Amino acid sequence: MDLRQGLGLRRLGRTADEFQQDLLSTLYYRRGTTVESASARDAYETLSLTVRDRLAERRARTAAAHFATNPRWVYYLSAEYLLGAQLEQNLLYSGTGELAAEAVKTLGFTLEELEGLDIEPGLGNGGLGRLAACLVDAMATRDIPAVGYGIRYDFGIFKQSISGGAQAECPDDWAFQGNPWEFPAPDDRQTVGFYGHTEPVPGSQTRKRWIPGEVVLGEPSHMLVPGYGTETVNIVRLWRARGSEASFDLSRFSAGQYAEAVQEAVRAENISKVLYPDDSTELGRELRLKQQYFLCSCSLRDIIRRFRLRNSDWSDFADKTVIQLNDTHPTIAIAELMRLLVDEYELEWDQAWSITRRTFAYTCHTLLPEALETWPVHVFERLLPRHLEIIYLINMFFLREVEERFPGDTDRLRRMSIIQEEPERRVRMAHLAVVGTEAVNGVAELHSKLLRETVLNDFADLWPAKFQNVTNGISPRRFIKIANPRLSDLITEGLGGEGWLSDLDQLAGLEALADDASFLERWRAIKRANKVDLAAGDPDSLTDVMIKRFHEYKRQQLKLLHIITLYHRIRNDPGGDWVPRTVLFAGKAAPAYHAAKDIIRLINAVGSTIAADPVVSPYLKVVFAENYNVTLAERIIPAADLSEQISLAGKEASGTGNMKLALNGALTIGTLDGANIEIRARVGADNFFLFGLDAFQAAELRYSGQYRARDNYERDGELRAAIDAIQSGAFGGVGHEVAGSLLGWDEYLTLADYRAYVDCQDHVDRVWRDQATWSRMSVLNTAHSGFFSADRTVSDYAARIWRVAPVPVPRDED
Ligand SMILES: *Cc1c(COP(=O)(O)O)cnc(C)c1O
Repeated sequence: MDLRQGLGLRRLGRTADEFQQDLLSTLYYRRGTTVESASARDAYETLSLTVRDRLAERRARTAAAHFATNPRWVYYLSAEYLLGAQLEQNLLYSGTGELAAEAVKTLGFTLEELEGLDIEPGLGNGGLGRLAACLVDAMATRDIPAVGYGIRYDFGIFKQSISGGAQAECPDDWAFQGNPWEFPAPDDRQTVGFYGHTEPVPGSQTRKRWIPGEVVLGEPSHMLVPGYGTETVNIVRLWRARGSEASFDLSRFSAGQYAEAVQEAVRAENISKVLYPDDSTELGRELRLKQQYFLCSCSLRDIIRRFRLRNSDWSDFADKTVIQLNDTHPTIAIAELMRLLVDEYELEWDQAWSITRRTFAYTCHTLLPEALETWPVHVFERLLPRHLEIIYLINMFFLREVEERFPGDTDRLRRMSIIQEEPERRVRMAHLAVVGTEAVNGVAELHSKLLRETVLNDFADLWPAKFQNVTNGISPRRFIKIANPRLSDLITEGLGGEGWLSDLDQLAGLEALADDASFLERWRAIKRANKVDLAAGDPDSLTDVMIKRFHEYKRQQLKLLHIITLYHRIRNDPGGDWVPRTVLFAGKAAPAYHAAKDIIRLINAVGSTIAADPVVSPYLKVVFAENYNVTLAERIIPAADLSEQISLAGKEASGTGNMKLALNGALTIGTLDGANIEIRARVGADNFFLFGLDAFQAAELRYSGQYRARDNYERDGELRAAIDAIQSGAFGGVGHEVAGSLLGWDEYLTLADYRAYVDCQDHVDRVWRDQATWSRMSVLNTAHSGFFSADRTVSDYAARIWRVAPVPVPRDED
C-alpha cells in the first residue's frame, strides 16, 4: 500500500536542505511570520510542527493499516497521563534530531534553546500517570493497535516551589501559550449527561430511559504516540468539557448579568478544569466523580463509533475490543457500557453483561485501604441515577453467584457486595472493577500476591484464574537514551549497536564488561559528568537521591533521621574520615496532606542548619529540588549514585522510580517492597543494599498490638539524639509534628526500621570507598535491568490479558 502516492501526498524532506525548506514553509504558511521577526516561541512552534508532520505522515499509514486489518484493539482508560516533554522524544522517534539541530540555526536559535520552551503536560500525579505514558509508548513500539483515553485538564499538577522552607503551590496553566503537539478533533465531540431521573420503558423489564438534568459536550484532541524503531504511530485522545451553544444566556448578557450569562458554560467547563492533586487517598468530591464519568462516557462512545466503522455485529465487540482500566478511576465505564448496550442499543441484559465482562480488564495500583475508592450512594443517586440502578442489578446477580458457591455465608456476601452498608452506604469501585472485568492484575509480584491474599482475597477464592501479575516497566527511550545520552553512547559502543533500545534484555551483554577496568573508568567519568551538569553538589560526593511523591508510607522521614544521625556523628568527630554525601530530595505533597508537608519543611530546615554549619557542611549537603516532574526526573536520575526505595514493606505497589534509577546505574538501598524485590532478584543480592522488615514481619508487628515506637527511641541512642534534636528546636523549631507522629502511633514503622537502615547506610559508605567495586556493581545494575522495560510489560499484558497481536505498519517505500 503506498498511501502517499494514492493520495498524492508530497514527500517530506529527508536531507538537510529539504528539512530546512519544510521548516521555512512552516514558519511562513502556518506560523505566519518570517525569519527576520521570528521569536524563540515562533521558532519552537515551527520546529515542533515540522517534526510533528513527520509523525503525522506515519500516523496516516498506521491508520490505513489498522483500518485494513480490522484488528483487536487495546483501549487504555486513564484519568492521568504524565507524558513528559514531547520535542526531544519526537525528534528521536522521527530520526530528525540532527536535521533539526542544523535547520533551526537558520532561524537564529539553538536546538537546546528551543527544547527549553517545550513544556511538559502535567496531566498526572506521579507513578500511575507516568505508567500510562510508558505503556502507550511501549504499545506503539510493539505495533499494538491502541488508543489511550484521558482528560485534557486545563490545569495539570500544581507547580511546586519552596518558600520559607515550605511547599507553595501555583496553578499549572501548561497550555497557556498553546500546545503544538495536539490535533483538535471537534467533529468527534460527544454529549454527556448528568443528574436528572429515569423512567420505565413500556414493554421492557430492563431498559430505562434516562433524562439527564445537565448536558455537556466532550471535545477531543489527540497527541501522537510514535513507536520506537517501528512505523506505528498511535494516539492519546484527551477530552475537554465545553458548554453547548445553548449554555450561553444571551438575554442575561444583554441585561448586563455577565456572570450569570455564562454560569452554565463555566459549570460545564469546570469538569476538565483541573487535575485532582492527590492519588493516594479517596477523594469524596462530586466533581471528581463527574470527571470520571465524563472520561468514560466520551471514550466509550468513541470506542463504539470506531467499532462500528468496520463491524456491525455486537457479538464481535468483545473480540475486537479490550478496555484496560488504569486503577478504579475509570470503573464507572462498566456501568456506562451496560447502559449504552441495554438502554441505547437495546441488547438483552445477559448479552450486554457477557460483552461487558469480556471487554474490560482492571489494573489495581494500591494496597492502601484509604486509597480504595468508594462513593456515597446518595452522590451516585443524584449524579448518575441510571448507573446506580445498573450497579444494583449487577450486584444482585453477582451476589446470587456468590450465594451459589458459598451458601449461607452471609458474612462473605456482606464483605463482597459492591455496596458497602456500614457505617454509610457507599459504592465500592474496586469491587465493581473486579466483578465487571475478565482479568485483574497487580503491578509487581508481591503486590499481586498481597492483593490475592488480603484486599481481594474473597474474589480470588471465587475466581482464582482472574488474578494476574504484570510487573510495571519504564520507557528505556525516555529514561536512558534521552535522559542520559553519555551513558547510552557508552552502552551502544560496548554492545556494538543500538538494538538494546527496543530489546532491553540485550543490556545483559554489559556483564562481560563489568571487570574491564578501562570501561569502568569511563562509566565512572560519565556519572561524574552527569553530576557536574546537575550541579546539585560536589560531583565527587556520593549523590544520594530520594525522588518521588511525598507520602508517609514512602518514608522520607526515615531518610531524614539518617541525615540527622550523620549530622550528629560528624559534629561529634569533625576530624573523622567521613564519606561526603549530597542528599537530594524532590517530590510534591498533596496540598491538603499536612503530615507530608511537615516532612518537606523539616527537610529544608535540616538542610539549612547543615549548610550553616562549617564543621558538617563539607561532608553533608541536603538539597531540595523544586517541582519534581518528568523533566526534572530526567536530569536527576543520570546523576544518582544511590537510589532510596525505603517504603514500609507491603505498602508500595511497585514503584517505577526504582527501575529508572537502577537502569541508570544507581545502586538501590531498599526494603523488600514492590518491584524492589524483582530488581534485587535480577541485579543480584550482592549488588543491592537490603534492609528492614519484610511485608509479613511488618504486618505481624502492626497487628500484634505489641508495637511501641517509643521502645526503639529509648533503646537506641542515635535515634534518641535525632528525635531529641528535632524536639528541642535544633532545626529552626521545625518538625514537632513529625517527631510527635513518629513517637506516637508511627503508622509506617519508621522507628522499627531505623537501626537496620542506618547500619545498611554504613555499609553503603564502606562500599563507596572502593570505587572500583562500586562501579562494577553499578554496571551490573544496568546490565540486569532489561526486564523493567515497558516493552516487556506490554508484551506481558498482550500475552496474558489482552490476547492481541501486533499489526506492523508498512514502510514508506522510496
Ligand atoms: C517515575 C516517576 C514517578 C514514580 O516514582 P516512584 O518512585 O515509583 O514513586 C513519579 N513522578 C515522576 C515525575 C516520575 O517520573
